Amino acid sequence: MTAPSRLVVLAGPTAVGKGTVAARVRETQPDIWISVSVTTRAPRPGEVDGRHYWFITEEEFDRLIAEDGLLEWAVVHGRHRYGTPRAAVEERLAAGDSALLEIDLQGARQVRERMPEALMVFLAPPSWDELVRRLVGRGTETEAERERRLRTAREELAAQAEFDVTIVNTDVDEACAELVELFSNMSSSTAE
Ligand code: 5GP
Repeated sequence: MTAPSRLVVLAGPTAVGKGTVAARVRETQPDIWISVSVTTRAPRPGEVDGRHYWFITEEEFDRLIAEDGLLEWAVVHGRHRYGTPRAAVEERLAAGDSALLEIDLQGARQVRERMPEALMVFLAPPSWDELVRRLVGRGTETEAERERRLRTAREELAAQAEFDVTIVNTDVDEACAELVELFSNMSSSTAE
């Protein structure tokens, strides 16, 4: 029998609210360790290096890839690169701690390949219409851009079947509670 996993991967379509749910877990569950990704994008106002992301250069990112220092990485939204530093995750898991990765779908697929014991959680919108509302938003996009976003969203939603568990993000607190519950279940099965 294999040991139960303590690694949870949270992924889902663009604009579903993964970052918000992960931020709520960070605020309310200090015992759940959340991986800090590296990214080549610039910090937004209020973002802190080492807390929200490690903000690094393209050259540093290349070096991490060459050293096999990333558990997964992807170009997100066709622009910047994002990746999960491997060592920190492996150290946490080796210490018996729980770890959460909040990453995009491309990254989630890579983690599933490399760590099949990880629990894959898909964060889904309450409905297709609601996702369209969140994506299309202000109506400032061109028709072509809207079409592109909706096509991407459709493909991303179809990925749900690849995941172990789906959490519907109707309410951030409820989604956060369901995610935390998954960690508790894993801990209790480990204790048995
Ligand atoms: P943002 O730039 O808005 O913080 O994040 C954009 C997207 O990058 C989100 O969908 C987020 O899930 C994804 N992301 C953040 N960190 C990682 C990572 O380490 N790996 C991958 N594959 N995606 C990430």
